[in-house]
Amino acid sequence: MYHKKNSLGVKIAVINSGSSSLKFKLFDMKTKEVLKSILIEHIGEENSSIKNHHQALESLNIDFSELDAIGHRVVHGGENFNKPTILDEDSIDKIQKLIPLAPLHNPANLEGILVAKKYAPDILQIAVFDTSFHSNMPKEAFLYPLEYKMYEKHKIRRYGFHGTSHSFVAKQSARILGKDLSELNLITLHLGNGASACAIEKGVSVDTSMGFTPLEGLVMGTRSGDIDPAIIFYMQRELGLGVDEVDTMLNKKSGLLGICGKNDVRELIESEDELSKLALKIMIRRVKKYIGSYMALLGDVDAIVFTGGIGENSQYIRDKILDSKFFNEIEVIVVETDEELEIADECLKVLDI
Ligand code: ADP
Repeated sequence: MYHKKNSLGVKIAVINSGSSSLKFKLFDMKTKEVLKSILIEHIGEENSSIKNHHQALESLNIDFSELDAIGHRVVHGGENFNKPTILDEDSIDKIQKLIPLAPLHNPANLEGILVAKKYAPDILQIAVFDTSFHSNMPKEAFLYPLEYKMYEKHKIRRYGFHGTSHSFVAKQSARILGKDLSELNLITLHLGNGASACAIEKGVSVDTSMGFTPLEGLVMGTRSGDIDPAIIFYMQRELGLGVDEVDTMLNKKSGLLGICGKNDVRELIESEDELSKLALKIMIRRVKKYIGSYMALLGDVDAIVFTGGIGENSQYIRDKILDSKFFNEIEVIVVETDEELEIADECLKVLDI
């Protein structure tokens, strides 16, 4: 059991470590006030004065000794982690073993963890996983219809991502509606450059659009979302593309960017170009289809919740998505997401305060 150091308040820092960036936020958890918020970019890039994550952490100029805990964002928790977890040798080893499932994200998250452990060895450090919120999905939601050994032996299944965001906005929505989350059915839509939808039944994620990786589901800024998997064989056999080329194409050169050459939705909305208009229509249609299918799954839906850069800011896109008689009676809520605050809140569970 851990007890807070400072009787006047609990201070939790959150680190979101990417391959070339480090986002740092320091919260006073009594007031939920942000005491410090720093974003360091271009780590390790040519001409950057910050050569590595260690230097990045040093440059923050934080007195780590006054912290009660440091929460780390970890993208993939596989099937091992369904709750915030203290970072010790064993859990770090397990996160390392998950790298093949998230080769783009987990190594960068781990880098931040290892550096912070070295820098602040006496401070409790906790991992909060993007996948955890989806860990109670029923098997019929998470299992792909492949040979069963692909799941049993190779752990190929739907994991879902953006969990901290879906969880945060669901709780906020319950507050807005004046009800307990356990009484509500919600469809949450995190629409940013990365995008996902989530069906939440009585507070539990029962289905979500991202799958084995964040590539599945909605049409995103640079990711295709759902496509016929046979397209990949065709690209390899007939177009002679290599595995990595197809991977890069689907993750970094597809989606809105692939169709019209732009992925800033503000620009697409302003654009007169036919392909930009088409790209938005394809994106909007996909979201609409997901909402419809989640309404069928959930039966009763208390609210559709929009968040993420597009979901929070674009009335135009929200109106286009909801432009259907089908959605006439449904409550619509717009909530600003705060993944760092959710991570800090999750850390409180471990601190038991
Ligand atoms: P990320 O997934 O990188 O965190 P964000 O949640 O910041 O992404 O969302 C980025 C997207 O939000 C971009 O496509 C941007 O164009 C879009 N966006 C931000 N503000 C607006 C706005 N006012 N209208 C439409 N789109 C917006």
